[in-house]
Amino acid sequence: MNESGSIRIGISACLLGEQVRYDGGHKRLPFATDELARHFDFVKICPEQAIGMGVPRPTIRLVGDTENPRLIGSSDSTLDVTDKMTVFASDTAAKLDYISGYILCAKSPTCGMERVPVYAEGGNSLGKVGVGIFAKQLMAAQPLLPVEENGRLNDVHLRENFVLRVVAYSRWQTMMAEGITVKKLQDFHRRHKFLLLAHSQPIYRELGPIVAEAGDVNDMADRYITKFMEAIRLPASIKNHTNTLMHIQGFFKDHLDASDKAQLSEVIKEYSAGLLPLLVPLEMLGMFLKKYQVDYLLDQYYFTPYPRDLKLRIGL
Ligand code: SF4
Repeated sequence: MNESGSIRIGISACLLGEQVRYDGGHKRLPFATDELARHFDFVKICPEQAIGMGVPRPTIRLVGDTENPRLIGSSDSTLDVTDKMTVFASDTAAKLDYISGYILCAKSPTCGMERVPVYAEGGNSLGKVGVGIFAKQLMAAQPLLPVEENGRLNDVHLRENFVLRVVAYSRWQTMMAEGITVKKLQDFHRRHKFLLLAHSQPIYRELGPIVAEAGDVNDMADRYITKFMEAIRLPASIKNHTNTLMHIQGFFKDHLDASDKAQLSEVIKEYSAGLLPLLVPLEMLGMFLKKYQVDYLLDQYYFTPYPRDLKLRIGL
């Protein structure tokens, strides 16, 4: 988060419409420029431009060993920018501890997060794939950082999950920057209870004992956040959401009359059967929450995981 309170997301500069690609073009991602930009600050980086390759520039590609490829000119094999790019990437990635997520440009030998073609020394593609040099250093230096690619963000589930992780990770970073205590760690865990349950009940159960320990709080925090980020990265299935909604429903048992109870149960059942979107039971619970002000639920992030006007729950 920056001084004005905005969450910062790193992004391949070409995805913001910057004309930094090898041919002077860009790959503008409207979801980033039109939607995310309203709520997040971007930290844009074009690694190829940053190492002085210029625009336009010769195209490069990954060559050799998939685990340890070199970054070589596509038509001029004497052009080898591997070492320059690796130094830039590791220096830059190590400093990016102030961002809360990163959007990478798919298929790029520099920025691609996965499935980037790796060519044989002679020039032919062998159907092998690897990770872009910058992306690899980034994910190694910031292993908890939520990272996604432009193409994958067209999927409503992956898009929702990415933003949810970015905002949750930012909350964690803010808490750590202000100084962690056992009480804060327990509070963080409590407020994410239903969000965690929707993603992974087994990991939620593993996290409870960590926050109940009487050990060194920094060690507890390290272990907690690793598991926490692992949990919320898992897709929130209809089954898990249904269990979570039913769990929340229990908090209203002394407030609702028989007719409201029956209606709520029916809506959850229809969501579970795929007949209604998630928003319907959530809105209904939200309405009851506003009316009955159930303390334990009021500050649960499950109800407000990210800015509402991003409309990320439409289609879930
Ligand atoms: S993919 Fe990465 S290196 Fe290529 S133009 Fe975009 S930001 Fe620059």
